[in-house]
Amino acid sequence: MRHLVTGGSGFIGSHLIDHLMADLNAQVICVDNFQTGSKGNVAHWLEHPHFELIRHDVTEPLRIEVDRVWHLACPASPIHYQANPISTIKTNVLGTLNMLGLARRCGARFLLASTSEVYGDPLVSPQSEAYLGNVSCTGPRACYDEGKRMAETLAFEYHRVHGLKVRVARIFNTYGPRMAANDGRVVTSFIHQALRSEPLTVYGDGSQTRSFCYVDDLVAGLLALMDSSCLRPVNLGNPVEITVAELAEHIIDRFNPQLTVSHHPLPVDDPRQRRPDISRAQHELGWMPKVSLEDGLARMVAALQGQDVMPAVEPEMAVVT
Ligand code: NAD
Ligand code: UDP
Ligand code: UDP
Repeated sequence: MRHLVTGGSGFIGSHLIDHLMADLNAQVICVDNFQTGSKGNVAHWLEHPHFELIRHDVTEPLRIEVDRVWHLACPASPIHYQANPISTIKTNVLGTLNMLGLARRCGARFLLASTSEVYGDPLVSPQSEAYLGNVSCTGPRACYDEGKRMAETLAFEYHRVHGLKVRVARIFNTYGPRMAANDGRVVTSFIHQALRSEPLTVYGDGSQTRSFCYVDDLVAGLLALMDSSCLRPVNLGNPVEITVAELAEHIIDRFNPQLTVSHHPLPVDDPRQRRPDISRAQHELGWMPKVSLEDGLARMVAALQGQDVMPAVEPEMAVVT
């Protein structure tokens, strides 16, 4: 089986490639323009005969032969996708169109890495796939939110018009080793600040919520979704919801009780709450996250400190609060 992973040298893509290569013995072509990813994330596969790395921008057409397309190429953190918003729109729209065209020509199955951001600043909680969202089409997050909504629309039209087998993962906040140190996402910021003994930068009063999924759990969900026959969008995320202030407290308690918090303005259109309803993933994929936030953060810190990543003693089932 030949797999194309776009955005494969990024955070999630490189973990996906690890599983495809190590567990499935697959042939993998990683396509990336290195806008936010790095060659170092896949360096350990460069000499492997089943692995190929191509520097390419998905907004340009690409002609290769594959059986599966995992379309992850897109900057994911707010500071990265807002740094060049027009490029973000082109990646989501033209890039997704090209990769759908490629999948169509090859008769390949296509998985889109969509996002919880399609729900915008949600007015219901938890968010199920039936929720249509509360998205600003003019704000600073729109390049990403609306870009991903259009990417989903394209995927479903390729299914309806051309019969393409598409899978759509709506990924909620995911964290783990290999997140870019400069991505400005809350878990990265807090952990790097904690390791440098700097105050943790809480935006707003910290009462906004998120639900954080460890990357290994997320990759397991992506693999299950690709293999499934599920033709509807599927939420993939950890349903344990916490406030940003609680995340800061947890990191202070766990890693460095001397740390303080500094408050900064809340970014424009920052969603107030986010928590996935994962019933569909549970019923249709038999999937559920297993790694607790405590274990996941410990593994991420261990990886950053260059130690072996500690396996969880006993995988805990996430508790829905
Ligand atoms: P990332 O920034 O680490 O990885 C994205 C990769 O795509 C990078 O390697 C980047 O260089 C590459 N890329 C960007 N534009 C490209 C282009 N035009 N052509 C080729 N390559 C390009 O981000 P990530 O966290 O690994 O996210 C991967 C995917 O998952 C993205 O599509 C993102 O929208 C989605 N997602 C991630 C999260 C999360 O919490 N990490 C949540 C929701 C959705
Ligand atoms: N495309 C691509 N690689 C392929 C096949 C298509 O990059 O192997 C691009 C193609 O350049 C076009 C897009 O995918 O921009 C959609 O292609 P499709 O054949 O579905 O439609 P059309 O070419 O008629 O627009
Ligand atoms: N956030 C924060 N401090 C930081 C970075 C982010 O308080 O240093 C907040 C941010 O305002 C948001 C939440 O943490 O409410 C999650 O932000 P992130 O950028 O990680 O992801 P997203 O907003 O895309 O969910």
